[in-house]
Amino acid sequence: MESRRHAPSPCAEPGCACAAITGSAQCWAHTPDHVAWRAGLGSMQLAGAWLSGVDLAGCELAGADLHNARLSGASLRGAVLRGANLEGALLDGADLRGADFREARLELAQLGLACVDAARFDRACLSRCGLVGTRGGNASFECADLYYARPGNAVLTHCSFRGANIARAIFRKARLTGSDFTGAEGQANFENADLEDVTR
Ligand SMILES: [Zn+2]
Repeated sequence: MESRRHAPSPCAEPGCACAAITGSAQCWAHTPDHVAWRAGLGSMQLAGAWLSGVDLAGCELAGADLHNARLSGASLRGAVLRGANLEGALLDGADLRGADFREARLELAQLGLACVDAARFDRACLSRCGLVGTRGGNASFECADLYYARPGNAVLTHCSFRGANIARAIFRKARLTGSDFTGAEGQANFENADLEDVTR
């Protein structure tokens, strides 16, 4: 998968060891005009884009093609990504609080250590998605496809997995306090998971 991403250019700021983000000669921190950069989003090729650390909070990206994009540590807080293609995207450590990923495609995406408080993944495809250490309360995964997803060590409390496909999902050592698995289908691995007050 790595080879399908664009190789980034180094940030133009002297002495900066970061990579330049797509659509800028600098990394996010050194990009001088964040408003202008965001305004250019619509005309950017976002598939495979290098977007580490960018602030896209509240942005409207419904249906966008972001597959294989690198969004590590980015803020997508409250962003609308409904129906977006995020297959293979890197969202590790990203701030996804309150983001709307309904019907989005996140197959093979990496959401490790991301924060998903109150985010919505209803009917999204998260099959084979990396969710190790992902944390958040009150997120919704209703009718999502979590086939072979790997939420090991995740902290997903008071979340809804109603009607989700959890076949072969690995919730090993996950904290799932108060979460609702009513109508979830398939056999998942809950080894050493905290299932206190879980509805199944
Ligand atoms: Zn820089």
